Formats: sequence, C-alpha cells, structure tokens
Amino acid sequence: MESDTILLARILEHIPGSIIVTDLSGEIKYINASSVERLGFERDELRNAPVEDLILGIEKKGSWPYIKDVILKNGDNYSGETQLICKNKDPIICSTIGFCVRNEKNEPEEIVLVLRDISEEKRIAEELEKKNLEFSKINSDLIRSNQELKRVSEMKTKFLSIASHELKTPLTSIKGYSEIIIDNMKSKIDTSVFSMIESIDRAADRLHLVINNMLDITRIEQKRLRLKPEHVNLKETVEECINELSQFALRRRMSFRCNIKEGLPTFYSDKMRMHQVFTNLLSNAIKYSPDNSIIEVEIIVEEENHFHIIVIDHGIGIDKKELKKIFDPFYEVGSTSRHSTDAAKFMGGGTGLGLSIVKGIIERHGGIIWAESEGTKTSEFPGSSFHVVLPLKSQIKWDDDETKRLKIKNIMGLDRKKTKKTTPKDKKPTVLIIDDEKEALEISSMILQSSFDIITAETGEDGIRLAFENKPSLILLDTYLPGLDGYRICRILRTQDETKDLPIAFFSAATQDNEIEMCFASGGDDFIVKPFSSKEMLNKVNKLLGIKTKKK
Ligand code: ADP
Repeated sequence: MESDTILLARILEHIPGSIIVTDLSGEIKYINASSVERLGFERDELRNAPVEDLILGIEKKGSWPYIKDVILKNGDNYSGETQLICKNKDPIICSTIGFCVRNEKNEPEEIVLVLRDISEEKRIAEELEKKNLEFSKINSDLIRSNQELKRVSEMKTKFLSIASHELKTPLTSIKGYSEIIIDNMKSKIDTSVFSMIESIDRAADRLHLVINNMLDITRIEQKRLRLKPEHVNLKETVEECINELSQFALRRRMSFRCNIKEGLPTFYSDKMRMHQVFTNLLSNAIKYSPDNSIIEVEIIVEEENHFHIIVIDHGIGIDKKELKKIFDPFYEVGSTSRHSTDAAKFMGGGTGLGLSIVKGIIERHGGIIWAESEGTKTSEFPGSSFHVVLPLKSQIKWDDDETKRLKIKNIMGLDRKKTKKTTPKDKKPTVLIIDDEKEALEISSMILQSSFDIITAETGEDGIRLAFENKPSLILLDTYLPGLDGYRICRILRTQDETKDLPIAFFSAATQDNEIEMCFASGGDDFIVKPFSSKEMLNKVNKLLGIKTKKK
C-alpha cells in the first residue's frame, strides 16, 4: 500500500490550484504539476528560479517582497491577490495565501504559497461592473427623458388650455352674432346671406365641440374630470342621443335598433358625461358605416352586478392591431375618406379625441371599454362593436362629486339672504354687465335688452361704481378683467350692505376647473360658460331673478 507521504505528494501534484514552495530567499523548491502545466513552463525552468520572476503584484501589496515581509518579518499569514506570470499567455490573477513552514526548532524554513485562479471571476465581475455602469447611465438617461416627457406633456396641457381659452373668446363673438342674426333678422336679409350665416353658426358649433374635446382630454390626462352624479336612466339617455343624431342618420338612410329592456336600474353617474359617451360611440358608428346600414345598441345587466353596453355597427371595421390604439388621444386609423358620402362628413374630419374621452369618462365611473372587430380585410363591411362594462353600484367617491364640493365652497363663503329685488310693473329689471371685451358686452346686451334694462362697464372699478349708483337686479361679471378681476369685484360687492344680496352670475371662457370653484367661493351665484347660446344666457338670468322663462 502506498505510504501517506506518497499519497500526499500525489494529491499536491494534481490539486486544481498552484502550490509553490520556496526557501527563505525566495528560490522555488517545489511547484506542483498542475500549475506548471497551466503556466506553460517546463518544471526544470522553474526549479530554483526566483519566485519574484513568477509573481507580480497587482498593487504593491501583492508583490513578492511584500508577501515575504508579512510572513517573515511580521510572522503573519499572507492573504491577498497576486498575478502569476505565464509563458506565452497573459498573467493569471490569483487569490493567494502564503505562510511559512517551521522546523523542529520552530525556525522558519520554507514559504508556501497556495494560489487559486480567479481570472474568470474577475473578468465577470469587471463585466458586471461595466454593465452596471451602462445600466446606471441608461437609467439616468431614462430619468432625464422621463422628466423631459413630463415637461413636454405639461407644456402640451398648458398649451391646450391657453389655446382653448384664446379660441373660446373670439368664438363667443362669432356664435353670439350669428345666433342673434338667425333668431332675429331672418326676414331682413337675403336668403343666400342667411344660409351663409347658418353655415358660420354650424362651423362655430363644430369649433366649440373641438375646443371642448381638447379641454376634456386635458382634464382626463390630469385626472381632474369632475362629475355631477345623479340617478341616470340609461335607456332614456341612449334614446335622447339617438334622437339628436337621427337627422344625420336619416340623411344617409341609416337606422337605429335599440335592445334595452324597460325597468333597467338607474346608474348613479354624470348624465351629461354619459350622454357624451353614447353620442361619441353612436356618431362614430354613423361616420364609419355605409349608407343604409343599421346601428344597434344593447344594454343588459349581467351577473347582477354590472351593466354591459354594446354599440354595434356594420361599417368598415377596425384592424385587430388597431383595436387598442384607437383609444389613444389624437389616434386615427388610416383614411376615413373611403367610406364617406357627402353626408358622412356631417361632423367634419375627426380629431381622434372622441374615443379617448369616452374611455376617460367610463374609467372615471369605474368601468372599462374595449372594441371588437373581425378586421378590415375579411369583408367590405365587417363592422365593429364597442363594449362598455360599468358597475351597477356606482364607484363615485364623495369628493369626486362636483355638486357637493361646490355647495361646501358656497357655505364656506358668505352668509347671504336671498332677497328678490322688486321692480315696479312698468319698469324692466336692470342688468349690469361688466366685461372688458366690447363684443361680449354688445352680444349679451342684445340678448337681454328685450326683457331688461342694460348698463355696461368695461372695468371693474366702473362696474362697482355703477352697481352702487344703479342698484341693478342682477350683475353679469367676467372673471378676467384688467386691474380688479371678477373674483375681487364679487368679494367687494358681497361685503357692502347695498350690494351684498345682489344675484351675481359670472361669465367666462372657463378652461380651468378651479375657475368655476373660485367664482362660487368668491360669492357668485351661477356661472355661464363662454361661448353661450342666447337661450342659455336668458334661462340662467331668468332663473336667478326668479322669472319663469317663456317658451319660444
Ligand atoms: P375621430 O374623431 O377620428 O372619430 P375617435 O377617437 O372617435 O376619433 O376614433 C379614433 C379612430 O378610431 C377613428 O379615427 C377611426 O379610425 C376609428 N374608429 C372609431 N370608431 C369606429 C367605428 N365604429 N368603426 C370603425 N372605425 C372606428
């Protein structure tokens, strides 16, 4: 049987690492076979060679003199990283342990170095570090582009808001004058001129719709879409929308089929917004379907916990890859001209905002929306269906409810008696209009002059003076005025005994949500959004004065 010493020698020879033994001067006395092979030398080349020629320090700490000092001078074991020189290759990086072997008299006799190749580990670690650096660079680039995107998005929102306001102001004049002509001057002007005015009026309505869509999408993107919830009968709402759209559908001989059972539970939601949802889906169905086709609407209650609304058309269909994208703002699929008849252009070219607004409104009510279609290639008119699922029990939270919030603001405002000013029978009530825009003053005066005496002021200061001198029955007040703005004027009037109980209605282009809140908070009684129709303005003024509106 092999002696222990021979066994040990054999193990040392083949151990997968380097064992180097030197005398105290650093001359190599033994180097195991596996390292001789790895370093690419002949054993004889290394025997009695100085180990200093074989070991390279990575830094000073791994050099042979340093290792020797640690072991012989300090009497410690060495542990660190060194490099082993190879014959025709790059050096190998090694994790190294060094210690001395003592004789019977406890005197150091040999130095033993045990080295383990860690080149691969080092390479991987370096690569990882490089990758980490790259990642952190990518990360900071991403953070930067994210910030940039956020900035651009904020700029876009601000731009939309300013642009909408700037567009609404001249639109008030266009809409106001065209309506006054249509309502009062038909007999006085040439029919061809009259029909041009009607076109201007319709164009103003379309522009108003586009502006409102831009404002809605801004509100949705900023998560600031406020709701005025009430118990809404969805069947009635759908029927109202169909009614309003029927003139366009009839022109193209299209018909609606409604499959909604009586007795559907009401849905606690914002009626105006639900109306907007159905109008957008149904007008899309009309826009993207051929003449003579049928549009179906179905509403069912499923699993006793949700409404499932489906709007089905037999139109041009939607490619499968577009089914999700069509809900992105400003997204439009290809050309819509291929299915248009002249009448199909009734709403003008789309802006690609309708569906994203619908999605925003549905999600705001706790629902989801998706579209289904076989794609556009299957047949000429494969059709599409739009599905909306809404919870039966509304998920509108208390602070989402704009009506409640405004009431609270008002309660927090000023304590006022609602006394009605009596006007002698032979005199018309007086309305004071304060606005710096001449056209807005003129239009409002023209709308109201048949039932009211009108006084106007172009600045806040003049407005306050006229309010004290004339004690009008009602004040119409613009929010943006040079110098004293509408809110401050309202607050001043509310603090004076002579004017504190006067009905005050603000009228403004109101593109910011908090604008309406501020009007109520400063003591306003109502808000008329520009551009307004003459009917809307008369209704609001009459309501504030407790006058029943005459039906035309
Ligand atoms: P638009 O104002 O362009 O109609 P929408 O947001 O309402 O904007 O719709 C986005 C796009 O989705 C449309 O441009 C159209 O390509 C597609 N689309 C919407 N509804 C339908 C439909 N019922 N059938 C086919 N395509 C539709």
